[in-house]
Amino acid sequence: MKMNKIDESKYSIPTRLIYGQSPAAQWDYSHHVIPPLTASSTFRLGSADRGARGFTDFSLPPSPGQDTIYIYDRFGEPTSDMLQHALATAEEKESAVTFATGMAAVHAAACFALNPNSEIISHTTVYGCTYSLFTNWLPKFGTKVHFCDMTDPKSFLALVNENTRVLYLESPVNPNLELIDTEAIIAEVKEINAKRIEENKIITVFDNTFSTPFCQRPGKHGVDVIVHSLTKGLCGFGTDMGGVVITDQKYQDALIRFRKDFGGTLSPTAAWHILVYGVSTLSLRIPKQQANAQKVAEFLASHPLVEKVRYPGLPSFPQYDLAKRLLRDYNDEFAPGFMIYFTLKGQNPEHSKALGEQMMNYIAERAYTITLAVSLGQLRTLIEHPGSMTHISYSASQQIALGIDPGGIRLAVGIEQAQDIIADLNTALEQLAGTI
Ligand SMILES: *Cc1c(COP(=O)(O)O)cnc(C)c1O
Repeated sequence: MKMNKIDESKYSIPTRLIYGQSPAAQWDYSHHVIPPLTASSTFRLGSADRGARGFTDFSLPPSPGQDTIYIYDRFGEPTSDMLQHALATAEEKESAVTFATGMAAVHAAACFALNPNSEIISHTTVYGCTYSLFTNWLPKFGTKVHFCDMTDPKSFLALVNENTRVLYLESPVNPNLELIDTEAIIAEVKEINAKRIEENKIITVFDNTFSTPFCQRPGKHGVDVIVHSLTKGLCGFGTDMGGVVITDQKYQDALIRFRKDFGGTLSPTAAWHILVYGVSTLSLRIPKQQANAQKVAEFLASHPLVEKVRYPGLPSFPQYDLAKRLLRDYNDEFAPGFMIYFTLKGQNPEHSKALGEQMMNYIAERAYTITLAVSLGQLRTLIEHPGSMTHISYSASQQIALGIDPGGIRLAVGIEQAQDIIADLNTALEQLAGTI
């Protein structure tokens, strides 16, 4: 069926995340309402000339009047191409390249532009496996990674030299939800880059997994490269792993070639789930999770056994003004997200850590609406204890130095009814009362 090309740009982003391109540029599936899922790892080429064009042009957008030539799934395939289009739309950027996992995407985003001798400067508190990549692996390949506390937007300047190529940011930070003033940092980077040639410019990379594009679009704050673990809020249902790097068109070619050779390609089945179920429902799921998180955070803040609650939607959040400036949804409303971090009142850090563990063991055995599990951004509320789980690669003293309380608890709020989550938390806290 011949469909007219529709100009999607006049529709709102939440609507475009349901429909995508109409029709898809990559694939003629015009009789399907839902894009069919491909299960072909290789593609019929038709002629040697088509094969030759495919091998030279696979990482570039098709020239006007030409169709996309698919060769082999590791180079690119239609389902993830459609997902890529949707993800670029979600971040209001030009291009997106998907990967097998969030870590494959973090690796590509941090490394695709490195030159010999290039150095990376990273915020001190980053996702645990990103920290491990930066400290255990990249130095073995000769890439120096420096760390500094970027909550002071000028602190990285002391580490910049002519080899600095990547500035790596994550905000809100995992797990304590500390925010980086991205706009202030970008202003400093712009000044440095004005004096550099293109190959030496500092590229800013930003892991936006905690917010999802619904709550924050760092491209608007001047960031060059945005990374997401698709496994989290963008998939949303907890069924698949994936990652994505979202940038300007000019970096797409290098990223697709990087993916081809390092091999971290997203499977079409995962891409299909994330496209059909995840991205299309983003604007439905996140507001519900966020409204729940606000109520749960208010409940926790009022509870006598809770020492402190960090949630960007609470006026007591230490960077509340910065949160209101950076975390905005598609209607430009404040979007503090669905992640909460809290600590219990103990006599000392060791005691609050023990209480945290005790509370989670209780929840693991007795709670209906809260599950002890890592990950976040799913329909179900998940709870975890970073000090002994996701951030185990930091020692207890490093954890304290990084602002991670050894007894801190991370809550990733889901779409249940808020009063049910609160009731389960309340019961778990009540049984601790006797032990304090
Ligand atoms: C989960 C996560 C990652 C890694 O994603 P995977 O899909 O598990 O590889 C990276 N950054 C952040 C902030 C995450 O939460």
